[in-house]
Amino acid sequence: MSQTQKDQSMALQKEMLAGYFEELSQAKESGRKVVYTFVPGNLTELMRSFDLLPVYPEINALQNGMRRRSDDYIAEAERFGHSEDVCTYVKCDIGMMKKGNIGPTGEPLPKPDLLLLSYTGCFVFMKWFENLKAMYDCPAVMLHVPYQSEGEATDEMRDYVVRQIRNDLIPALEKLSGRKYDETRLRGMLEKSARAEDGLVKALESAQNRPSPIDAYFGGVYYVGPIFTAFRGTDDCIDYYNHLTAEIERKVAAGEGPVTPEGVMTDQRYRLVVEGPPNWTHFRDFWKLFYDMKAVVVASTYTKVGGLYDRGFRHDPERPLETLADYCLGCYTNLSLPARTDLLAHYVEKYQADGFLIHSVKSCNSFSAGQLLIMRELEKRTGRPGGFIETDLVDPRYFSAANIKNRLESYLQMIEQTRAARSA
Ligand code: SF4
Repeated sequence: MSQTQKDQSMALQKEMLAGYFEELSQAKESGRKVVYTFVPGNLTELMRSFDLLPVYPEINALQNGMRRRSDDYIAEAERFGHSEDVCTYVKCDIGMMKKGNIGPTGEPLPKPDLLLLSYTGCFVFMKWFENLKAMYDCPAVMLHVPYQSEGEATDEMRDYVVRQIRNDLIPALEKLSGRKYDETRLRGMLEKSARAEDGLVKALESAQNRPSPIDAYFGGVYYVGPIFTAFRGTDDCIDYYNHLTAEIERKVAAGEGPVTPEGVMTDQRYRLVVEGPPNWTHFRDFWKLFYDMKAVVVASTYTKVGGLYDRGFRHDPERPLETLADYCLGCYTNLSLPARTDLLAHYVEKYQADGFLIHSVKSCNSFSAGQLLIMRELEKRTGRPGGFIETDLVDPRYFSAANIKNRLESYLQMIEQTRAARSA
């Protein structure tokens, strides 16, 4: 498969994102109302069924990180009183607003007409939107999603979320949009979501091949983009995944690895599973370290924060509100430590990984807590070595390429030793 073919899906996604940010920049002129919300547990189809446009502050923060603008925004938020320990997504977002709310593509972002706080597992989500509520004069709705502390979502939990969607959220969206709730329209969108989700799962599962035709962490960021953000429920989203899966099928047939910024990576000496989000400020440098060491990522948990589709979940048009509740309850941020450990152990086996790597994020207290326990437990259960590295999401002060290189090298040596011991 040629690089041009790979570039088709990336170019398509770039076009989709550019169109979305342009739509946002013109929202006020075109009379579109805007809802700020979070990626995990997002109710994109429901918002779109009211013709509302969603905005995801984490996506703006990560895009700003990739474009090396986040340091200025973080400094601005710190000047405003947010401490060094506050989640850097929050500081990047608040700093961006303080500096005029110009989005990552350089176009202005509209103010929110509603803040929809889907609370899925991270307490910071709540504090973040408390801050936004103080900055913008607009209503807020909180969708409280019970944490899966016992490792499963119960019928009572689902009913609780459905009641909130029906009794609190839908009336708020009706009031904001001036439209009545249209369940037929919502069902149509959910049906389209499920088709796109089939495509994403095919793409992620292709990493079972050797060589893997995808990188399920760095490349995975692109593959989950349309489904995790504003495009679920649209024809564009289905088209994107059709393109992507066709590209991957061609790569499998040709025995090729993924296209990376450094070139095609067919020579894969190590297959890894990764826990934790990527670093965004040095995304390319971070990826290059893996590329240089011939380490391909065959599964990651970051690509599940917006839904565990590869574990069977699909948006179900036959149960529109129940399926939205199940989606919120089941996304990765809402899972307990034992459930996260089970998931990682499953990936190590399913993708026949040589080991797993934890990328801990300095300012993400919610998900970094417990990662060392996860690592020890996984080592016991899988018999494969675990590695640990630490940087940050969008604060460049915490990325040290030399440090990560050293740690990665030592970790891959451990894998070599395990291999040698096995074959002895
Ligand atoms: S999950 Fe981590 S990165 Fe996301 S909002 Fe919470 S603290 Fe910040």
